[in-house]
Amino acid sequence: MSMLAEHIDLQAYNSFGLAVNARYFTRAQTLQELQEAVAFARANSLPMLLLGGGSNVLLRADFPGLVILMALRGITEAQGPAGTVLVSAAGGEPWHEFVQHCLARGLCGLENLALIPGCVGAAPMQNIGAYGVEVKDFISDVKVLDIGSGAIETMSNAQCAFGYRDSVFKGALRGQKIVLSVTFALARGAAPNLSYGALADALSDKGAAVSAQDVFDAVCAIRREKLPDPKVLGNAGSFFKNPVLCAQDFARLQQAHPALPSFAAPGAAGERKVPAAWLIEQAGWKGRQHGGAAVYEKQALVIVNRDHATAEDVVSLAMAIMASVQARFGVRLEPEVQWIPALETPLV
Ligand SMILES: Cc1cc2nc3c(=O)[nH]c(=O)nc-3n(C[C@H](O)[C@H](O)[C@H](O)COP(=O)(O)OP(=O)(O)OC[C@H]3O[C@@H](n4cnc5c(N)ncnc54)[C@H](O)[C@@H]3O)c2cc1C
Repeated sequence: MSMLAEHIDLQAYNSFGLAVNARYFTRAQTLQELQEAVAFARANSLPMLLLGGGSNVLLRADFPGLVILMALRGITEAQGPAGTVLVSAAGGEPWHEFVQHCLARGLCGLENLALIPGCVGAAPMQNIGAYGVEVKDFISDVKVLDIGSGAIETMSNAQCAFGYRDSVFKGALRGQKIVLSVTFALARGAAPNLSYGALADALSDKGAAVSAQDVFDAVCAIRREKLPDPKVLGNAGSFFKNPVLCAQDFARLQQAHPALPSFAAPGAAGERKVPAAWLIEQAGWKGRQHGGAAVYEKQALVIVNRDHATAEDVVSLAMAIMASVQARFGVRLEPEVQWIPALETPLV
């Protein structure tokens, strides 16, 4: 294993900038280092936490086990079926740089997902999505290390059971697999995806001549305008998922709140997705501060570390928002951010 450190402050390893400690910490730059780290944790019955960019975690307390920073790097290309190019990226490749790499090689599809923080290995975990695209649309397969058996396995797109900000890695296989690399099937010069209204509007002056680079530039510009840079103001992006309501619940809510915005949801007939940001804003939370944590004033879906927030500040603000949205709209908000330990687990 590469160097094993003890009692390490994780503030620089989570985009909320929360100051919690890891009992043990190591950086895995090779498969062997990763395997040795897993063996160390198993031999000492230690809980394990994989971290990429730490941009989708809420570290609620000191971590009593081994934190492994995923630092495997490398990108390869092979010819795929039907003129596609199969691009494999190691789990520790920074996501945005990988998107730029593909674009520079003329490989299209991922440009709508530009500027999402974090690493390639975490992209399948919650099936990252933005501006009309989900990463599942481009994942061919995922190579994983099984923590229990030590086997290296290749999982097809279907085996990953991707859903809205969801996958088998957050469900049935939670904590059982480490993503070593992801293979994407990309096309040269594919037509840009402008299904997201605000993106289409931003590019309307280009007419039919919109390129993947134009989409990339527009997505970056919109994101820079709307979202806080975690290096400046700690945050983990959208804190909650947009709730998906069945036809009946949606009709009830719309009747009570005629201005309720909604989008089509890909699930059962009549299901609608409702913007969590709207519910939170209507419930009066935009800009409000609790301890050092606050609801971002430009985007109510984002909780920010305004002033030396503690994990407890973020947790109690999030819980208060959930209770308030439930009371006002009868809608249960579900966090998108991974709480570590999970919400149901009491802190000792
Ligand atoms: C400003 C901002 C904007 C964001 N915008 C978006 C957005 O538009 N769309 C979106 O979907 N997300 C968004 N996010 C959330 C986040 O960037 C993504 O979820 C990203 O994929 C997380 O990557 P990470 O490497 O930082 O994961 P981490 O936070 O390090 O880890 C997230 C989870 O995955 C696990 N994990 C990480 N790597 C591995 C691995 N190799 N194998 C197994 N498990 C692993 C961790 O244990 C943890 O449970 C945003 C976050 C921020 C701060």
